[in-house]
Amino acid sequence: MTEIAKLVIIGSGPAGYTAALYAARANLEPVVYEGFFEGPAGGQLMTTTDVENFPGFPEGITGPELMGNFRKQAMRFGAKYIGDDVQQVDFTQHPFTVTGKKTQYKALGVIVATGATARRMDVPGAGEGEFWQKGVTACAVCDGAMPMFRNKNLYVIGGGDSACEEAIFLTKYASKVFLVHRRDELRASKIMAERVIKHPKIEVLWDSVLEKIEGDNVVNSVTLKNVKTGKEKKHEAAGVFFAIGHDPNTKFLKDQLNLDDKGFIKVVDGVAETNVPGVFAAGDVQDPEIQQAVYAAGTGAAAAIKLERWLSEKGYLD
Ligand code: NAP
Repeated sequence: MTEIAKLVIIGSGPAGYTAALYAARANLEPVVYEGFFEGPAGGQLMTTTDVENFPGFPEGITGPELMGNFRKQAMRFGAKYIGDDVQQVDFTQHPFTVTGKKTQYKALGVIVATGATARRMDVPGAGEGEFWQKGVTACAVCDGAMPMFRNKNLYVIGGGDSACEEAIFLTKYASKVFLVHRRDELRASKIMAERVIKHPKIEVLWDSVLEKIEGDNVVNSVTLKNVKTGKEKKHEAAGVFFAIGHDPNTKFLKDQLNLDDKGFIKVVDGVAETNVPGVFAAGDVQDPEIQQAVYAAGTGAAAAIKLERWLSEKGYLD
């Protein structure tokens, strides 16, 4: 059966829940599709341990606890949660249609906040149940300060700005940081590349790819292969940080919204408005660059405020 809503929010990370909080307080009675791609509700922070850079928590807070708080706060003002994965949307006709596996809504407005997924490498040792989150992560800024990485050799994989930034960040804790790049030239901006190359605690391993990760309870070595010589070498390592980019979760949108060449939703003037009036985007799904929870939350608030204005201007709230 198709149900009716003023607003459907797709996604349940910091952006989706913040949009829900603002929309609920504006009496938009938001319906939030929490499930996505069968991953956990709550988004990427659900797989993070301590979050130390979300303002307001001077002692830090775990990712799941933080997201639990976001969820509860929006629910207190009447947000309704649907544990279903959105399969497709139709933004060509108003009211818009959002179709899940088990549910369908017609909505006056939609906020897409489905986030992005940090790419991981599919090499032996990197998987869940192996060393994922036991020395292998995809976010140095989130996990780099953990005691297990202190004064150890750490390996960052990638050659872009993120990899450079993460390598520099990790020098605060590591004895040495190795940047492993598959080519002989960094993709990163000149200034970042120079900082990395000149840094006394960073060594760039050119033309190198990660072959496997080994350890006991936690990571203790990586095996790298030089793609030019074909030689493999095992190195002592306490941490592996993937910085090989993010993939936005936009496949379900098909051709419904304008996307950039990497699949991120294009927003007008940098914040929230998509090319379809009444459809807004927030969080990492429209942000190829910053990708931080606090910023995602901010764009969620902006999307809800702009959507309420739009509904009101159109007379839908009369
Ligand atoms: P990116 O620019 O797409 O770089 C990804 C890097 O990972 C590339 O060097 C790529 O190698 C490598 N890579 C991709 N897949 C790989 C694989 N399977 N195995 C090994 N290496 C792989 O992504 P990003 O660094 O996350 O940056 C995203 C955007 O945010 C960029 O526009 C960047 O400028 C921006 N950013 C800016 C700053 C800053 O200005 N401070 C900081 C962070 C990010 P190839 O080079 O060979 O393709």
